[in-house]
Amino acid sequence: MPFVQVKCINCGTVLQVDGAKGAAVCAHCGKPEEFVIYDSVLVEYRGASTVTKVVVPKTVRAIGAGVFRDRSGLVGVTIPNSAR
Ligand SMILES: [Zn+2]
Repeated sequence: MPFVQVKCINCGTVLQVDGAKGAAVCAHCGKPEEFVIYDSVLVEYRGASTVTKVVVPKTVRAIGAGVFRDRSGLVGVTIPNSAR
């Protein structure tokens, strides 16, 4: 995977990270990133397995196939209007 855009769900800072290197840590607030966004497509979700509700960032225009596969703990995914 090439460099991808990752948006911090905590403070909104957008970072460019090497997609092959796992979740980045936000340089602004120090929280680990959960969303891997490439060319406005959510390609990977890296949140903790204990997460039950996900709010997809507004910068996302499409959600890749299988992004939330194997996330049986999730009870809700909020999708922005931009991806509907
Ligand atoms: Zn942050």
